[in-house]
Amino acid sequence: MMRIILLGPPGAGKGTQAQFISKEYDIPQISTGDMLRAAIKEGSELGQQAQGIMNAGGLVSDDLIINLVKERITKPDCANGCIFDGFPRTIPQAQALAEADVAINHVIEISVPDDEIVKRLSGRRQHAGSGRVYHIDHNPPKQEGIDDVTGEALIQREDDKESTIRERLATYHQQTSTLVGFYQDQAKQGANANSAPDYDKFDGTQAIDTVKQQILTALKG
Ligand code: ADP
Ligand code: ADP
Repeated sequence: MMRIILLGPPGAGKGTQAQFISKEYDIPQISTGDMLRAAIKEGSELGQQAQGIMNAGGLVSDDLIINLVKERITKPDCANGCIFDGFPRTIPQAQALAEADVAINHVIEISVPDDEIVKRLSGRRQHAGSGRVYHIDHNPPKQEGIDDVTGEALIQREDDKESTIRERLATYHQQTSTLVGFYQDQAKQGANANSAPDYDKFDGTQAIDTVKQQILTALKG
């Protein structure tokens, strides 16, 4: 069983690194952001509830997110584990995982300063169907504006404009960054127990491939 949490501000590179880990360990990436965007596209009730909040850079309610994730992890593809990308984002979300006895092996923090994130996210492009993520300079698709795998058009996310990015960063510092201490404490307290996760922090300003190598090495250790 390999369950991993990727923690870090919007744009730190969680989705990018989740894709590498997913391939290496053959476990699915569970991105609550991608799931919410899919719900918006479908026009479901969840999507309608989430859309305004996401465009304002806030957080969707813990109850909605917890139910979404609890259902997702019962799927057969999660039998050997999964990578949580963008979840948990609040202490109640983390507590819900613990209360459901969903043990975490490894928490990976990717750290990037705010100013770098604002620059970075304006160049992000995404393939809506799969969540595959590109950057116009740092990780360009083979053909501009086109997904490498499907040949479909890439999109720019509506919340990747500067004013919303600033809101999302504020939300991260107010509500999510507290999870750093939460999981570091768990790792310390349980250093001798099998149940506690390992905790590792990586400098997300390094090249994508450097971060990848460091994370894969840490996961093997
Ligand atoms: P990023 O990749 O930039 O960190 P995500 O795709 O993870 O962004 O999330 C996009 C938006 O979806 C968030 O700004 C938030 O509104 C909502 N969202 C995603 N995951 C969660 C979560 N675990 N709890 C609450 N809201 C969430
Ligand atoms: P998150 O899931 O944390 O929001 P993403 O993986 O979507 O972050 O990455 C945000 C943007 O930054 C994308 O355009 C991605 O291609 C790019 N990116 C990711 N990691 C790096 C890196 N180490 N250096 C430069 N750009 C990066």
